[in-house]
This record gives sequence, C-alpha cells and structure tokens, in this order.
Amino acid sequence: MFQLNSNIIDSIVDQDIVHTINLNIFGISVDNVEIIELGNGIFSYPEINLILPTCENNGEFTVARKVPIVPSSMTPYTYRLGNIYFNDNIVFNKYSIKEVPLENGKPRNFKGYSLSFEGTKSPYFELRINPKNTGKCPGKCAFCHRKYSYRLTPELDRKEYSPSEILNSICQTYGNDILSKISHVSIITELYGNEHKFLEFLNGIKKEFEKYGVNRLLSFGACSQDVRTLDGMRELYRLVTPKKYSFTLETFSKRKEIMGKYKGISIPSVIDILLNARKANFKEIKLNYVSGIDSYYDFEQNIRELRKLNLVDSIGISIFTAFFSDQKYLRHKEAYDIDYYLRIVKLVKELGIKFYRPDCYEMGIPLKLLG
Ligand code: SF4
Repeated sequence: MFQLNSNIIDSIVDQDIVHTINLNIFGISVDNVEIIELGNGIFSYPEINLILPTCENNGEFTVARKVPIVPSSMTPYTYRLGNIYFNDNIVFNKYSIKEVPLENGKPRNFKGYSLSFEGTKSPYFELRINPKNTGKCPGKCAFCHRKYSYRLTPELDRKEYSPSEILNSICQTYGNDILSKISHVSIITELYGNEHKFLEFLNGIKKEFEKYGVNRLLSFGACSQDVRTLDGMRELYRLVTPKKYSFTLETFSKRKEIMGKYKGISIPSVIDILLNARKANFKEIKLNYVSGIDSYYDFEQNIRELRKLNLVDSIGISIFTAFFSDQKYLRHKEAYDIDYYLRIVKLVKELGIKFYRPDCYEMGIPLKLLG
C-alpha cells in the first residue's frame, strides 16, 4: 500500500489538488493497457487524457490532463470503471471526471493541428498548430513528453505540413466558420533549429488565415525558442498578437545536460535573448517552466534574478511527468512533495508574476491552485 509523505497528508491544500498533482508524479494503472518495452529495459508509458475537477476554476478550463499509464506496482492510482482510486478508495468518481479519447486510439494522429480544448466546455478556445513531427527535434529535451520528439522516428507518410495544407485540412474537416469560433491560435512545434525558417512558417500561416478572410486574429502566439536575435524579435513582434514573447525556458539547472547544445544554452545567454525581446518592445515576456527538475532553491534564486532584471512578466508552469521509464531520474527528490509545488506558486505570486491563463499545459499546475 502506498503512503503519502506526511507533509502532503497534513497539507491544508484541497485533496483534489494533491491527487491531481500526484497523478502526474506517479501515473495511473489501467487494466489491459499494454506498456511497450523499447529495448534496453526502457518502457514507454501510454497516455490517458482526463478532465478532472481541478481542470476547471471560475468558469475557466484547462486542456485535459495527460497522465502516464504505468504498471500497478509503481502507482497508488488505478482507473477502473470510470473512477480513479487511490489505493482502494475512490478519489475522483466517474460523475466528476471525463476521459477524452485519443483520435483513432493513437496518441499521434499527426495532421499538423489540434483543438487542444476538445472535450471541455470551450472546445474551440485554442487551435494549436504543430507543423512538424520528424522525430528529429533539435531540442533533445530529456524530459520531453512527445514520444516522437527525437527519441523515436514516427512511422508517418508525412512528417511536415505547409501552412496551406494545415488550413485546408482544418476547413475541410470543420467547415470555414470554425476559424471565427477560435479564440486563440498557438504555434507549438518541434523546434526548427533556425530562426529564419521558423519565422517563415509564421508568416506563411498568417497569410493563409488572410486567404480565408481572417484578417486580424484576436490572439496569435507562438512558443518562440527559435527566435533569438534582435532582428528576429522585431519580425516576431510584427506577427504576434498580443505582443507577448513566449520562451520555453524549461529549467534553470543542468540545462545543457538535459536539453542539449541548441536549446540548453546558459542562463546568461537566455538573459541576452530576453533582453532582445524587451528591446524589440515586447510588453510581456512569458516563460514556460517545467517544475520538478530544479531544486526549489535553484528556482527561487533564478526567478528572483529574472524578475529583478524585469525579464519575466508571466509564467506557465507544467509538472514534470515521466512518459518513459528512464526519465524518472530527472525528478528532483523535493518534487515528490506537494509542498514543493505550493512554494513555487506562492513565490510566483509574491513576485507579482502572472500565471499564464487559462492553463494550456497538459501537465499544468491545477487551475484551482492558481486561485
Ligand atoms: S523542444 Fe519540445 S518537442 Fe523538442 S525535444 Fe524539447 S520538449 Fe520535445
């Protein structure tokens, strides 16, 4: 029988929040789901997408929570007959949760886009455009939860779509009026490893929207790790609305070791990039952060410094979740304790940094905790 850390049991925080975070830490067991061995003793955990009570707060919704399916010996959580059990007790019953099925039962039915809020009460909130799935992402993040980032090459006929193919496919599937129902367009892609190519895609997709009569998107953003120079920033500034620079910082420690040479640049180099974003006039700098890998001390020191330098206005925090058995070593020992996440949230609030809302991360901090 699994026992939770005493800090967790004594915590004053809502138990729904505790169990939601724990599902990302421990995963869940589901009968009759095959866990694939990739060789060398490494297992790939399938995903299940769940809308839990903590995905909703004050009428806002998050995307469905992506939870790894793991052997029952590894987790106190079980999904049975639509209920979630902690040991033998129901913690989320079938009336309070919903499973969002994967398209065609496959996690990567790659078509260049997805409606990430499908299954919630705001299904058209976000159109996520992901044009590339080559299995050769130059990010090389050890924590990556996309199975085909750089670890596996997808068996797909197409590994990349052009802007016109993506917009055509969306309109053919949902009808042209889908474009007027969408509140927010996000480009979230495998990295290009090249600023120019990334900006070229952004320009192309905007022109395609114009062809469909959408001349001004209310909200058009991109995770722009590839955009680093001042000229690149100025071009990005022209393209996105609102004027927000979104940078996938991910972690403060062990950067090169766990993200490789291209993405794992040093913190002083990150500071130079963020300074370029300010020089290009971005009013908001948003950092994407993966909690669970840094110690709390490393997070605190670095986030205070970035705030002092006026280089962070908002933050989107996800919880590191292992989708491969060999990723588990990445989790810092402190990050098994719910207090670690509570302290991070408290510090962000104290520093006056905004949380990115709604929380579009599949493994994000539960909305209920963000308040
Ligand atoms: S940049 Fe993104 S897609 Fe590429 S390896 Fe890192 S997390 Fe995965």
